[in-house]
Amino acid sequence: MPEEILKNIYRLPVPLTGNPLKELNTYLIKGKERNLLIDTGFRCEDCRQALFAQLAELGLQPGDVDVLLTHLHSDHTGLCAEAAGEHGTIYISGRDNYMFQSQQVWDDYWRTAKANMTAQGFPRSLVDGLWQGNAAYAMAPPRNTPHIRLQDGDVLEVGGYRLCAVLTPGHTPGHMCFWMENEGVMFLGDHVLFDISPNITAWNGFPDALGTYLQSLQKIREYPVTLALPAHRGRGELNARVDALLLHHERRLDETMRILRQQPGLTAYELAGKMTWRIRARNWEEFPVAQKWFAVGETVAHLEHLLALGQVKALRENGIVRYTVL
Ligand SMILES: [Zn+2]
Repeated sequence: MPEEILKNIYRLPVPLTGNPLKELNTYLIKGKERNLLIDTGFRCEDCRQALFAQLAELGLQPGDVDVLLTHLHSDHTGLCAEAAGEHGTIYISGRDNYMFQSQQVWDDYWRTAKANMTAQGFPRSLVDGLWQGNAAYAMAPPRNTPHIRLQDGDVLEVGGYRLCAVLTPGHTPGHMCFWMENEGVMFLGDHVLFDISPNITAWNGFPDALGTYLQSLQKIREYPVTLALPAHRGRGELNARVDALLLHHERRLDETMRILRQQPGLTAYELAGKMTWRIRARNWEEFPVAQKWFAVGETVAHLEHLLALGQVKALRENGIVRYTVL
């Protein structure tokens, strides 16, 4: 059911069946000539039905909307080509558009990502084949989807509203929030979520994602936001949540240092197995492999930040990276 949040601005919840995120909040701004849909859901039948049924309730068909994407993840972008149809325009940050490029670019990206994870101690037997049935891969938008690249500060106007793109890299290299100054409304994407902490992982060609994310958290604090609209689950008070996320990562960094002091020379994979995770598995061995991938990615992001701060060092031996406190 569409929820009208402000005049002609609706939240259209889309279920993410079987995914720990549970639900995606897409937002629709109805205008006189064009309509703007912010994020879309996975390219799968559950999401497709939920999204298009709610658009129909508002009198809209696929192709009646332009699509604005907060970032590249498939749960946000999967249905963008279908929603935009032949006439709609798709907008995404210029730094986040690799998944809209050719199959070659996409394949190269994953090949490098897998090689990097193997170097971090992730068993090769688990890495191989991991992505074939995975949502990030299987439910992404089609390759070579035409789109317009946004830069920090770009403005879109629809339905009498003005949305300004605020580049907030960290969760992804080109993540964007969208700010409506006159109304004090910020569309947050996955930059700040209120019920879960956004996943911060290591990326090819985007060094120190965590350090960048922490800066982007400080950046968002400077806006006088009165209504913060996250892409998953419930709403809340933005500045209090930003402070809680800053503290969360500070504690994670402390935990990383504590474990490495006790056991120098661990790989990121070994270290991840000793960190505390909020997941229903009895031990590291029983983690589903996709969850291990996220956990190790997050651990590497914390290690990269500690490397940038000069608090740990990395030694590569026989192709495997091991970390020690300086
Ligand atoms: Zn995301």
